[in-house]
Amino acid sequence: MKFTTRLLHDTFAPDAATGATTQPIYQSSAFYQPTAEDMERVFAGKKPGFVYTRVGNPTIAGFERRVNALEGGVGAVACASGMAAVSQAVLNILSQGAEILASGGLYGGTSSLFRDFAQYGITVRYAAGDRVEDFAEELSERTRLIYVETIGNPKLDVVDIAALAELAHAHGVPLFVDNTVTTPYLCQPLSLGADVVIHSTSKALNGNGNSIGGIVVSGGVFRYDAARYPKMKEYQFGPMSFLVRMRMRMVTDYGGCMAPFNAYLTGIGLDTLALRLDRICENALALARLCEAKGFDVNYPGLETSPYHEVAQRQFGGRYGAMMTLRLGTKERAYQFINHLHYALNVSNIGDARTLVLHPASTIFVHSSAEEKENGGVTDDLVRINVGIEDTDDLIEDFTGALAAL
Ligand SMILES: *Cc1c(COP(=O)(O)O)cnc(C)c1O
Repeated sequence: MKFTTRLLHDTFAPDAATGATTQPIYQSSAFYQPTAEDMERVFAGKKPGFVYTRVGNPTIAGFERRVNALEGGVGAVACASGMAAVSQAVLNILSQGAEILASGGLYGGTSSLFRDFAQYGITVRYAAGDRVEDFAEELSERTRLIYVETIGNPKLDVVDIAALAELAHAHGVPLFVDNTVTTPYLCQPLSLGADVVIHSTSKALNGNGNSIGGIVVSGGVFRYDAARYPKMKEYQFGPMSFLVRMRMRMVTDYGGCMAPFNAYLTGIGLDTLALRLDRICENALALARLCEAKGFDVNYPGLETSPYHEVAQRQFGGRYGAMMTLRLGTKERAYQFINHLHYALNVSNIGDARTLVLHPASTIFVHSSAEEKENGGVTDDLVRINVGIEDTDDLIEDFTGALAAL
């Protein structure tokens, strides 16, 4: 069974009680049990059931099962947003004194969060480059996690996940991969050796820009040594340990659960993931080739000129995602280009059905330090484009016009 058939038929069965063909919305805060004994057993995890939506909910559980099936994990925990997924997944295992080793081109929200962790004694080091040796150089006695994204935003850097997983495991630390930009359609990091996959489901998994959400999927293989990971001391019972702690100690206590309605909407978007991404990847490659042919400085992992082309091709099966960037020489020319486009909306998110365009330096990176901008590949003349599902010819006409007007 291939991706979309599996997604439609294997990850969801019609509702047993009603025959509903989409995941029903259980918009209920709490769930009843017939006896006090039943309630005790549900609380103790000895009887399956739901108690309170912050802890679990049938609509959210249905969404978790589907994303987990696509990623090939042992289970998943959905969160209120991508940032709730990142923060709760990382804090699930790290204690004071731990160091995160991360790739340079991290999403701005994530690098900002990691900077904030410093006040709790959790620090971050960035690899100077994208080769495994660059990561190896920054490993220390205190490193407890390697954290990367499949395609950096907006740097568009790609790390070799399998090689990095090997390095992490040789050092006794897990590898967490943010798979938001590629989605399980292009890349399944767990199958390459990663231990935990994180998504902002607000982006391509949803695909229509109608709900904020996040999810954390665990591969269930990595064993968290209690001495090195004190928080995991009481969670040593096997493949589900990470997720049980994540649900009970992070989402339940910190409160960053997904809303049932958002799980429902995102589940609908998920059905068409492969269709949308096929069109998006074709459109993006066509636009990148157009800009290149016209002599513009364009960055897209699908172009042979990208230093990441070879690893992206191997890792993402010949598709390269929606995101590309253009360097236009000056900030003025970047603004001119954005203002001239008709179909591309000037918007700060990614992963929509519509083509989106943004000037990162004056928006999502406006509060970043010079070093963070440099790490993120953000210059004043840079325009980020997230290609949508519009008809290719219309996008080509729009881009041709905007480039000609410069
Ligand atoms: C958007 C994004 C996030 C944060 O997700 P939200 O749903 O906006 O909180 C994290 N990582 C990446 C790569 C993103 O693009």
